[in-house]
Amino acid sequence: MSFDPSVLADLDALAERVARAGEPMLEGLDETAAAKKALAILAEVELLRWTVPEAFGGAKTGGLSDAKDVSVRALCAARSRLAYRSGMLDVMFVMQGLGSYPIARGGSDALRAELLPRVAAGERIAAFALTEPDAGSDLGGVRLRAEKRAGGWRLTGAKTFISNAGIAHFYSVLARTSGDAGDGGKSSLTMFHVPASSRGLVAERFEVIGPHPIGELRFDGVEVDDAERLGAVGEGLELALATLARFRTSVAAAANGFARRALDESIARLKGRAQFGKPLAANQGLRFDLAEMDARLRAAELLVDEAANAVDRGERAVKEVARAKLIATETASWICDRAVQHFGGLGVKKGTVVERLFRDTRALRIYEGTSEIQKLILARELVD
Ligand SMILES: Cc1cc2nc3c(=O)[nH]c(=O)nc-3n(C[C@H](O)[C@H](O)[C@H](O)COP(=O)(O)OP(=O)(O)OC[C@H]3O[C@@H](n4cnc5c(N)ncnc54)[C@H](O)[C@@H]3O)c2cc1C
Repeated sequence: MSFDPSVLADLDALAERVARAGEPMLEGLDETAAAKKALAILAEVELLRWTVPEAFGGAKTGGLSDAKDVSVRALCAARSRLAYRSGMLDVMFVMQGLGSYPIARGGSDALRAELLPRVAAGERIAAFALTEPDAGSDLGGVRLRAEKRAGGWRLTGAKTFISNAGIAHFYSVLARTSGDAGDGGKSSLTMFHVPASSRGLVAERFEVIGPHPIGELRFDGVEVDDAERLGAVGEGLELALATLARFRTSVAAAANGFARRALDESIARLKGRAQFGKPLAANQGLRFDLAEMDARLRAAELLVDEAANAVDRGERAVKEVARAKLIATETASWICDRAVQHFGGLGVKKGTVVERLFRDTRALRIYEGTSEIQKLILARELVD
């Protein structure tokens, strides 16, 4: 069964309308206020429903190999449109999906029924907590320990670089239920749903260079029932990686959205600004820049299409996803850097669009698997 193209076209148009209207509404707000406002804007037009599977209160997708999944094509369509206008709208959109997907995949029926429709409606803010001070690219290094108690678990340790820390209502947390840090984590890690209101859980925010609510979490003997466990004991790494496999292509789509805005800004600036008695766009060197920006961006867009289609068809798509994430995020950084150059001094003046885009795109090469990790994945597929 194929995905109805008119559904994607409608979604694309809706995301564009929301992003255009929402962009000015977020201006001047502090980060927490902007994050909550962005979520409210997305919820009002039911865009967040695309982050949750149809079976659990999400948008009616159709055409997926598994109706309990989210459509990566839909995530990509929405993210590229949102990112074109606002990094905050983009991050608040996708975190609802990333943080709640482990519940859709591994939560009990009761937990899914209680939480997922509320995530889709923007009434509950989700977060996804894997990274620790000593475990980033290598999740086998996770130390946060979950000890078995009568009827439940006791979590002790720390997480860092957690998007939505401090504003989330719940965290999907990867914890160690056996073995030791450095053991690869294949059968020794387990995921849990942890309400933000849990006793012993403390969130502390910090700032990164782009607009992004983020911080660290301390778990000081946090107690959760066994009903909060997501998936089987020892299968947490698999669940975490399955979540990343589903959402990673959408990072590439967001990168393309930022890059397309940067290209449009560059074209307008080079045509509108004159130096040495002629428009900057009359200089061949700068025209070549625009041509190369366009060609590289289109290549990245096609890679995202290829990956999103393959994942939605239920294919393994490891190479396709790694290529799309690597090329789109690296390309976006390069394009935004060229755009800054085209603006001259204005390119680095706080408040200009290209200055923001330059900061917005940088983290995309790091989170959900760095560029180097995408190369390792791709090389493993090619060689081993
Ligand atoms: C804005 C932002 C939002 C984030 N949101 C979340 C979130 O919501 N939840 C969450 O759990 N995490 C989140 N992260 C964390 C992110 O996933 C990690 O930063 C990322 O996985 C890299 O881990 P690290 O920072 O520990 O770097 P490290 O793993 O220490 O890597 C440092 C450098 O070494 C390279 N490297 C590592 N291993 C190898 C190798 N074998 N070969 C070659 N090079 C290698 C890396 O590519 C990188 O360049 C976020 C990060 C950022 C910046």
